[in-house]
Order: sequence, then C-alpha cells, then structure tokens
Amino acid sequence: AIHLNLNVRGLGPSATLAINERCAQLAHEGRDVFRLGLGQSPFPVPQPVVDELKAQAHQKAYLPVKGLRELREAVAQYHRRQEGVEYSGADVLIGPGSKELMFLVQLVYYGDLVIPTPSWVSYAPQAAIIGRHVRWVPTRAEDGWRITPEALDRLCRPDPTRPRILILNYPNNPAGTTYGPDELEALAEVARRYRVILISDEIYGELHFHGRHASIARFYPEGTIISAGLSKWAGAGGWRLGTFTFPPSLRWLLDAMAAVASETYTSTSAPIQYAAIRAYQGGLEIERYLHNSRRILRALAQRLHGMLTAAGIDCAAPEGGFYLFPDFCPLRERLARRGITASGELCDRLLEETGVAILPGTDFGRPAAELTARLAFVDFDGARALVAAEAVPPHQ
Ligand code: PLP
Repeated sequence: AIHLNLNVRGLGPSATLAINERCAQLAHEGRDVFRLGLGQSPFPVPQPVVDELKAQAHQKAYLPVKGLRELREAVAQYHRRQEGVEYSGADVLIGPGSKELMFLVQLVYYGDLVIPTPSWVSYAPQAAIIGRHVRWVPTRAEDGWRITPEALDRLCRPDPTRPRILILNYPNNPAGTTYGPDELEALAEVARRYRVILISDEIYGELHFHGRHASIARFYPEGTIISAGLSKWAGAGGWRLGTFTFPPSLRWLLDAMAAVASETYTSTSAPIQYAAIRAYQGGLEIERYLHNSRRILRALAQRLHGMLTAAGIDCAAPEGGFYLFPDFCPLRERLARRGITASGELCDRLLEETGVAILPGTDFGRPAAELTARLAFVDFDGARALVAAEAVPPHQ
C-alpha cells in the first residue's frame, strides 16, 4: 500500500529537472540535443571565489543556523549599497539556496500565496506541498508579462485585510522582462495599502542587461524581503547558497524560518559560506566578470529575440537574465495543420523532431492553448565566451 501525504500525491519531479533527464536520454541515444530547457548559468564561478573555496576547504563545523555572521554582514552591506536601505547582518538569513528559503517562508507564514502568471516553476508546487492556497494574478503579453498595480488592487480589494504574500520576480524567469523604478513604486503603493508582504525574488538582479537593477525594497522597505544568492550571477547554482534580507518589522518571519531550519537542515555548508563572503566583497575582477556576463547575455538575447520576431513569433523584448518567453500564437494555423494545438505538444514535437528542448508555458501557469514556451539561452561554453569578451574593450 502507498501511504503518501495527500499534498504530495501526483507531484512529479520539477519540470526543469524532467526536461534535463529527457535530454540526457536523447543524447545517450546519439541524438544532437540543444538544451534550452534547464536555466542554469553558463559561466564558471569567478576565480577569486573558487580560490577562496579551496582555501576554506578545511572548514568543518556546523555554523549558526541563520548563517555565518561575517557573511550576513557582507550580504547586508551589499543590499545597503545597492538600495540605500539600512540593513544590518541581523536582517539576513542564509540558506541552502533561495529555493529552500522560499519553501520555508511559505511553511511558516499563515495566509495566501499570490503569484503572477507566468511564474517560476517551483512557487506553486511548493505551496501545494504545504497545502497553501495560491492566487494567480493574470498578466498580459503586451505588458511584457508584468503584473500591473491595477491587477494587484483588483485581487486585494474584495478582502483588503486578508494576509497575503506576493512573490515578484525580476528580471523575470520565464519572461526575461523586468520592472523599472516607476513600475515598482506604483506596485509598492498598492502593496502598502493592503499590507501585502512582498518576496522580491532578485536572483537575476545582477544580470540586468544594463546593470541597472533596482529593488522594490527602495519603495516599500517595511514590507519587502529581498531574495537573492550566488546561483545565477556567480554561476554557482550547485553550491547551494541563497539569502533572504528582511526589514526589522518582519524579523518574526526570519526567526520562525530559522527555527524550522534548525530542526531540518541545521545550517548551510560551511566552506561555501566562507567562500561566499569573498563573492560579496566584489572588487575589480568580479566587476569585469559581471560586466562581461551581462554583455554576452544581452547580445544573445537580442539576437534570438530578433530571430523569433523575424519569424513572426511574438516575444517581449528581454531585459535581463537568460530567458525568452515566445508566444507561437501567430503560427497557430500552421501548427494546427501538423496536429499541434497546445504548448505541451509543441515542446514535445520540437524535442523529438529537432532536438531542441524548451519548456511549455503551462509549466509556468499559462493556459495550454496559448502556445507560449520558455527558452533558456545558456547552452554555450561560458568560460570561452568570457575569455573572448575580455578582448573587447569594456565600453562596447
Ligand atoms: N527563483 C527563480 C526565479 C529561479 O529561476 C531560481 C532558480 O532556478 C531560483 C529562485 C532558485 O535559485 P537557488 O535555489 O539556486 O537560489
């Protein structure tokens, strides 16, 4: 007999991991595979950070559950410098990936989870595991899949005092778009009106193509938790280090999450935490690494966006990160003649017939009939690309 918690019945491995396994299988069969499904950084971890990890390999102690004090201070200082908000080390929680911290916050918080559609693949399944109610906020392609202040107001107004957490992710996975300061300020005003807690998922913040990322914490510091970490900008997804930065008014959430962490994973890997301090210290070499990463991603995104739109496929102009979210609707009739009427079929047929792996919009909460899909443009040799970019003067 199978005795499973009701909440996890029917839960499979996450969509991005599943596509990865299918790609590995096809490659094993000798097929050419283009891995545009899984979104992980193509770049190596910056050398000073790797060197520091080697130097810290002897670190073996369990560390404090909230994270190493020096690292918490380095993260607070980083966000203080970026946003001009007065964070201190006590406001920071270190965890084994921001994904785990997302899960913990949902576990300890009492209220609704509000997420835009499309949204990153794991928010909704995490809510389902916990048995939490999810409210999807619709967005539109013509708004670059951004949530508007009006849409947020419409959702909150009927029940204005209901406790809610909204996850806002920018630069966005899967849309590739981001929010400018004016849009953030307008959203902050609505969030403040209804006392919505914002989790501002800024894991791609450093990969804004023009290095102009700004956090909504500037406009709504008392209600915003900044989620970030090393996975995307430092190419260190497998190191598993994420950070949540809280305002003092939400310290109760930090403390509750740390209490659960202390009974589950205990603390984040010690050598990784010591090495992460080096990453947050920055410096010239890391600045160049970031500058070149952005240039490479921007050039690729613009090229691909141009090719898609030239082929008659709708696609919001990308502004950061490493994703595009094309809408194949203009090709609807041609696709239907080949028996393709849903985004899942489109992606399956594309993989089987051409070896190109992309993910259907349904994995991100979009309707099947819409023919949207996410394309991650990371299947290239990032180390070589960085060397090549080094040879091009920085102002280009
Ligand atoms: N948020 C978004 C939007 C992501 O795309 C990812 C990674 O894929 C994460 C969070 C989780 O990152 P990590 O757990 O590696 O910090």
